[in-house]
Order: sequence, then structure tokens, then C-alpha cells
Amino acid sequence: MEQRNVCKDFLFGVAVGDALGVPVEFENRQYLQQNPVTDFMGHGTYNQPVGTFSDDSSLTFCLAECLLDGFDLNVISQSFLSWYYKGYWTAHGDAFDIGATTSDALSRLKKGVAPELAGGDQISDNGNGALMRILPLLLFIKDLPLKERYSFAKQVASITHRHHYSIISCFYYLEFARLLLTEPDAKVVYSTLQPTFRESLLKLGFEPKDWEILTRLLNGNIAELEENEIQSSGFVIYTLEASIWCLLTSTSYKETVLKAVNLGSDTDTTAAVAGGLAGIIYGFEAIPESWVIQLARKEDIAELAKLLGEKYL
Ligand SMILES: [Mg+2]
Repeated sequence: MEQRNVCKDFLFGVAVGDALGVPVEFENRQYLQQNPVTDFMGHGTYNQPVGTFSDDSSLTFCLAECLLDGFDLNVISQSFLSWYYKGYWTAHGDAFDIGATTSDALSRLKKGVAPELAGGDQISDNGNGALMRILPLLLFIKDLPLKERYSFAKQVASITHRHHYSIISCFYYLEFARLLLTEPDAKVVYSTLQPTFRESLLKLGFEPKDWEILTRLLNGNIAELEENEIQSSGFVIYTLEASIWCLLTSTSYKETVLKAVNLGSDTDTTAAVAGGLAGIIYGFEAIPESWVIQLARKEDIAELAKLLGEKYL
């Protein structure tokens, strides 16, 4: 049996979830309750062929590839620009899905604004566009002390999203993924992280009011909420909540990402964010083979995962 490579687990975890959601992005929950997604499909929202991933995966691959040469925020930013303007790391040569805050930030980058200042910093700049692409950073920060892990997460988020809601969401997601590397039970990781994440934020200089927005994740048990209490629009906090809820209420990769897609609205991103963590928990082998076979650029993604594994694992 091939030795497990967690890079392959999460890169395919993100991309398969993304591709599952692309055809029904923006469909509402009522529609999907009557017409649930159960398998890979083609066309739909963007009229793309089956297995087409979107911005979430493309920017994830850009970041992952840049990390093969260590960490350089300028290199990462240039790679994001290549995606948007030249179709780099797209499924079929064309960047067809981009959020407003990311688009504005890339325009600023192109004009020469420094990467750490390019992202939007207003409360309205808290779409999920940083969260959806942050996961590969796990490899670079997993063995670093708290303040450095946070600093790198903040820098990478800030290329497009600089408001603290986005930064804290990215950091929570990365800390969750980091714990999953040694504890594969998501419920244990979730409850372990509740007190430790609050303590970490205090050590980093945040005040309790700064993480009030994460109350439903950090207090109580989000897994006990009913589906109608979980929102799935593109607001970063909703995407983070929904993805953790899907993870905690499912027992397989397939169940996690189908549940995420069928929440509706930002289907591809919720499934990409949930799928990355589900990939780490259940492994590449647990992703339905028929989906992997249909995924665009699967050989390129596998090669990227192999190179990342050689460098970081
Ligand atoms: Mg997308």
C-alpha cells in the first residue's frame, strides 16, 4: 500500500468538494432539498464540464506550489495574479469564479500595493475568499510556535482579506487542521480547541470582544445545532461554522461534502473548506474513486501533493 501523504488527502479533499459544488453554486437550500446533489455533475451555474474546480482550489494549488520554495509573500501574490489574469492553475484555462474582495485586492496588487496591505479591511470585506485557499499553509507552520503560526496565517490571509474576522477564521481553521494531524477524531479536536483557541487569541493580544463573532464555535457545541440554524452564504464566519458543523455531524468524506453542498448558496466553498479537513481525517483513499477520476487535472494535483510531501512530511 502507498504510504499516506496528508498533502494528497487535503488537496484532493478541497478540490473534490469544490468541484462537487460548482454546478449548483448559488442554488438555495429549498431547491437542493428537493433536488439534492448526490454525485458529480456537469454544467449548471457556470456551464462547466463535470469535475471542474473553481477559485477555491486554484488558489489553494497556487499557495501550495509556492510553498515548495519556502515562504515568500510576494511570490504567493504573483501566483494569485497569474491565476486571475492568465488562468494559472485553473481547471480549463479560465478563472470563472471570483469574489468581489479578492478581485479588488488583486487589482491593488497589480498596481503595486504591498501584499500585506492589498486585502480589504472593512467589515464588509469578510467573504470566505481567504479561508477557502489557506489550508496548504498548514505544512509551513505546523511545527512553529503560536505567534509565528498566527503571523504567517495573517500575512497569507491579508493578501486579499485583512479584516480580523477573516484572519481569525483562517487561523482557527489552520489550528483545527493542525490538531487533526495527530488526533483524527474531529469531535475531540473541536472540544480541545475551544479553550485553547481562546487562550491563544489572548496571548496574541486579542480581547474577548474580538472573537464574539465566533461564539457559536467557541462556546457550546455547534454540532447540536439544527440544519436550519446553520447559514451557508459567502460570509467567512458562516462558511467556517457550516464546514465544522458538516464535519462534526458526518462520518465519511462523502457525507461531509454532500452535506456541505446541499446546504446551498456558497456550495463549492463550503464543500471545499469542509472537504479539506475531511480529507485529512478520512484520507485520499476515502474520497469516492469515481469523483477523483472525473476531477480536472488530477495528475497535476497528485504530482503537486507528491512534491509537497517530499518537502514537508
Ligand atoms: Mg468557487
